[in-house]
Amino acid sequence: MYRIIDGKAHSAKLRAEIKLRAEKYFERTGRRVGLAVVLVGNDPASQVYVRNKIKACEEAGIKSFANYLPEDATQSQVEEVVSGLVRDESINGILVQLPLPAQLDEKRILDLIPVEKDVDGFSEQNIGRLCLNQESLVACTPNGVMQMLKEEGIELRGKNAVVIGRSNIVGKPMAMLLLNSDATVTVCHSKTQNLKDICSRADILVAAIGRAKFVTAGMVKQGAVVVDVGINRNEDGKLCGDVDFENVKDKCSYITPVPGGVGPMTITMLLYNTVCAAERS
Ligand code: NAD
Repeated sequence: MYRIIDGKAHSAKLRAEIKLRAEKYFERTGRRVGLAVVLVGNDPASQVYVRNKIKACEEAGIKSFANYLPEDATQSQVEEVVSGLVRDESINGILVQLPLPAQLDEKRILDLIPVEKDVDGFSEQNIGRLCLNQESLVACTPNGVMQMLKEEGIELRGKNAVVIGRSNIVGKPMAMLLLNSDATVTVCHSKTQNLKDICSRADILVAAIGRAKFVTAGMVKQGAVVVDVGINRNEDGKLCGDVDFENVKDKCSYITPVPGGVGPMTITMLLYNTVCAAERS
């Protein structure tokens, strides 16, 4: 019998802890934990994400600073805003919502964010620290996966973990986190050969591809833990993951649903990183 990993429940539990830590920080310093969000342009999906992040901050007792710039903002305008936030001591974390409009040099803008305020964990230094297994701010989605695995008491040491996807924001940090937890890790991608064979040996299988129902029952080992990071729309326009949940679930010991699995943890880990950044400051 499989067990569903309930991302909403894990998220609610961690948010309560984050709220307490944010209150303690306020009592100690007289300042609220502060997160600055920079949104450039009118991308509707980005607007929704930013709204959700601001709402989540409010609920956790974290002060949010929203910075909206127009679609045609210049490189120097955006850099000026970000540099101001870097200097501002009341701001513990800075998040630049991606993607940025095409005229902007994303790397140059992200490089302005110092490692201690990089709550998205995308900076070269934070990624380097993660690779060296040093304390760092870790990308929210893979860190959320680790948090759920830990809370569920799932042993990783010595286990065969397979990550499908090698993006800088999900696949690669995910693989590194699993490796740092003593799993034996294989990273698969679009050029991988014998994907089915590799996946069917996985004790822990993480799918971060972006293709609906990509992971089928034939790719899953009996008793595996299956984590579905994907967010897709099926033929009816309904939200679904990368895993063919209905056909895969009975082979699993644990499985994350979509929606309600990894997704709810992502914003929670942003709040978590922001509180950690404040406590270290
Ligand atoms: P991406 O497009 O940057 O990377 C996709 C990866 O999948 C690539 O590394 C590619 O090599 C691999 N891939 C593509 N086709 C493949 C194939 N046929 N066989 C094996 N590998 C293949 O995407 P991403 O940003 O890493 O996101 C992956 C998915 O996770 C998307 O659905 C995205 O929406 C979702 N996502 C969810 C959250 C969340 O909060 N739940 C956060 C970030 C991303």
